[in-house]
Amino acid sequence: MPDEMPARRHLRSIATVCLSGRLADKLESAARAGFDGIEIFENDLLTFDGSPAEVRRMAEDLGLAITIYQPFRDFEAAPEALRARNLDRAERKFDVMQELGTTLMLVCSNVQPTAIDDDARAAADLRAIGERAAGRGLRVCYEALAWGRHVNRWAQAWHIVQMADHPALGLAVDSFHTLALGDDPAGIAEVPGERLFFVQLADAPKLSLDVLSLSRHHRCFPGQGELDVAGFLRPVLAAGYSGPLSLEVFNDEFRSAPSRVVARDALCSLALMEAESGLADIPPPPHITGVEFVEFAVDDTSGAALAAMLASLGFRHAGHHRSKQVDLYRQGGINLVLNREQDSLASEHFHWHGPSVCALALRVADAAAAIARAEALQVSKWRNPVGAGERVIPAVRAPDGMLVHLVAPDPHGGSIWDADFILAPGPPPEADGIGLTAIDHIAQALPANGLAGAVLFWRALFGLEALGPVDLTDPYGLVRSRALVSPGGGFRLPLNVSDSRETTTGRFVSAASGAGVQHIAFVTADVAASVARLADRAPMLSIAANYYDDLAARWALDEAVLAAMRRLHLLYDREPGGAFLHAYTDTFEGRFFFELVERRGATGFGAANAAFRLAAQAARR
Ligand code: MG
Ligand code: MG
Repeated sequence: MPDEMPARRHLRSIATVCLSGRLADKLESAARAGFDGIEIFENDLLTFDGSPAEVRRMAEDLGLAITIYQPFRDFEAAPEALRARNLDRAERKFDVMQELGTTLMLVCSNVQPTAIDDDARAAADLRAIGERAAGRGLRVCYEALAWGRHVNRWAQAWHIVQMADHPALGLAVDSFHTLALGDDPAGIAEVPGERLFFVQLADAPKLSLDVLSLSRHHRCFPGQGELDVAGFLRPVLAAGYSGPLSLEVFNDEFRSAPSRVVARDALCSLALMEAESGLADIPPPPHITGVEFVEFAVDDTSGAALAAMLASLGFRHAGHHRSKQVDLYRQGGINLVLNREQDSLASEHFHWHGPSVCALALRVADAAAAIARAEALQVSKWRNPVGAGERVIPAVRAPDGMLVHLVAPDPHGGSIWDADFILAPGPPPEADGIGLTAIDHIAQALPANGLAGAVLFWRALFGLEALGPVDLTDPYGLVRSRALVSPGGGFRLPLNVSDSRETTTGRFVSAASGAGVQHIAFVTADVAASVARLADRAPMLSIAANYYDDLAARWALDEAVLAAMRRLHLLYDREPGGAFLHAYTDTFEGRFFFELVERRGATGFGAANAAFRLAAQAARR
């Protein structure tokens, strides 16, 4: 990129169809999030109780450009009898555009069965609409819909635009239509930049659906799905395109989510694409080497109960904060913080959520770079109020409200604990608790319409990779799970959602206490030994005897091993990489629970056992 090129020269735009609510809400949410412009999707205008001139004023008041008016459908290569009427129809829409104060209209390829398969005819029609537009100082761009009757590829649309050869007619490309068909965007780099009139960006999951259903219901913002949107944007930029980058997403979940939240995610998504396509230069995602601590918001009563539960799991009270009602519990490399400080963020969290995880801290090499990345991606940051001599721990806020602190190694060899806590000396490692050594994963339960935003947050800021979705069976409905894993495996975050309010996930989310961390898994080198050392103090989740009969049938396990697993309520799974053994505690005050995990080469989460865990938890309701 030449030095003199400004960091960002493309307007950031979003289609009104991406956002929920009334048109006024959509515009306000887009402006608040920081977008420069909006696409007016025709339906949003038709259902608006006011004139196009009012929409123009609303947009102007918010500082939003109207980047395009769309879509104009089923125009080109229509049967002869419709040609004159189609041009009249266009003139009426041009009237609307002039009232709106926008100069560009999007024509998408004809989907009608009656459309004629004739590129020359399509070109002649598009030349005619270009001529009409030019007469009024307007422009038109032509987009190939993935399900167009005869035109469904960008190269075909470009060929027709070249044939039409009119200065007021250009090409529109849309990452969804190209990538969902598996088409190659590389050739877009050869289109002269000034002939590219508009660029739309959308992502999608890889579902085995026809492209129309995929488009109408499951499109998502770039970075939320599985298409290579940055790989699409690179040839667009190489072409010399200088117009808006506009998000156009149709998604059932976004339609039910608050427009402000969706607009904020959308801006983060666009900023991520600018970075990944080379348009913006921002720090790379931080390398996460582990979890430094997990912090629980509690009050005196629940704090004492949770401390007792942690003690039963082998944690010891390791320190007290110098100036706050904050205690540290430790085992191996695991730090759990219980915060019952009044008038704090934790107490506010407790007020809304009850006893719950309010923060965690990730170990990264460079916390400042991570915060700079968060700022570039427009993600809100947070700094704790600190007492004299206390360390400032930079943080960002995750979509569910949890604070995510970033802790880098102290160049002087100190730790965040030395400065802020009065620490008790620890035992030798061999006498430390029940052998739990680290945090293996932290699982969150989220509302169904919160999954895409969470995936984007963790992917964009921290470069976590989203594993393919897994469906888990709860006795009361389906739980959808997507695990996010940091490169290198230093941080694992399974995210669970459920459309049913009666599943373990659904009950957690629909309780007044809301979404957030539902379980934390600890690493042990020997789960049977760790559980055996619990004695009778720790409330462990009982697994039905039938489970062990099935295990015996599925895997050739030694009888004595099987008997121990049955006695200790251990679960077992095997995958190509190795075995996965685990056990769960009961749920603390109906909220969250803990898991003990032994990995013998396995990288998964024991998904095969989820149904048994969910059934056991449902039985304890
Ligand atoms: Mg489009
Ligand atoms: Mg787990």
